[in-house]
Amino acid sequence: MKEAGSEPAAGQGEVLPWHGPMWDVVRTWPTLPQALLITGPDGSGLPLFALALVQARLCGSHDPANGLPCGRCRSCEWFAAGHHPDVLRVGGDVAMGTESDGDAGEGRSKAAEAREDATKSRSIPVGEVRRLTSFLQVPSHGEVGRFVILSPADGMNTAAANALLKILEEPPPRTTLVLVSSRESRLLPTVRSRCQLIRLARPGRDEALRWLTARGIPKAALALDLAGQAPISAALFDAEFWSSRERLVNALGRKDSSGAALMIAGEGLPLPVLLPILHSWVVDCLGVATTGRIRYHTDQVGSVAGAAKRMDPDALMIFEQRLRAARRLVDHPLNPKLVVGELLLAYAACEYGS
Ligand SMILES: [Zn+2]
Repeated sequence: MKEAGSEPAAGQGEVLPWHGPMWDVVRTWPTLPQALLITGPDGSGLPLFALALVQARLCGSHDPANGLPCGRCRSCEWFAAGHHPDVLRVGGDVAMGTESDGDAGEGRSKAAEAREDATKSRSIPVGEVRRLTSFLQVPSHGEVGRFVILSPADGMNTAAANALLKILEEPPPRTTLVLVSSRESRLLPTVRSRCQLIRLARPGRDEALRWLTARGIPKAALALDLAGQAPISAALFDAEFWSSRERLVNALGRKDSSGAALMIAGEGLPLPVLLPILHSWVVDCLGVATTGRIRYHTDQVGSVAGAAKRMDPDALMIFEQRLRAARRLVDHPLNPKLVVGELLLAYAACEYGS
């Protein structure tokens, strides 16, 4: 389908090197079960595997040596363009093809939009599952059957999950539902138990670095650290991310940084960009204070250590919990600008003597 290091077209799948062993198992299955749950670490490319799997099943001439879709037949063309008549994509991950977009070069890039949109589109409302119900009422066009890809499946609200459960209880013929989720514990147990599980591996650091470097991702090692070792997330960092991060980290690390100065540094930063940077910074400060270990901002060792000395660890620990909760709610912030301001002031308040 693609050479290592080439840009996959948006909406198309890819078998990443660390998914190879599982791909070799799944590709030999004569048929797919009626429901699959593809799970594994966040930011490691789960939707790309789901897309590749479905595309390969529909491809008119997939490669017998590796099971990859040809990328040239009519089915592959329809699939890449996102309008194959036997495929329905539900949820932001897959519909946008965002996880595969690692282009860091174009100013206001698709990656920046994808990163901002990715959080907005994590939720799958019940209307989307109804779209699925009407899709299933039409018989499949081709001989292979129909495929529905739900990603991220944990984005379903209760009504949507219940609607899906009804479909899983009486699965329509010649149909495969492919659920993708890095947070499988958030799925209804009754939904989970009806799916065959495909658990994908976490990439090794060297493997992830090789992949990022082959794609021309700048500062690959630091990007991988900042992304918590999630290569697909690291591939989404673009020039805009790096400048936002620099601005924020400079302010967070400054000795005399007041709440007001932090507010200025954070001005205009979208919550989905600010929150992970601030959270990882706070985790690093706690790491220095407890184990001496910095996991994320590995280029800022002195700065993090300095900040950690100025902060009250107990206050910081409570703040870290608050940030974690905020990250869970980042899909539905009531007023993102207000949240950004409040969080930066709360960080400043963790300093001794403030
Ligand atoms: Zn093909």
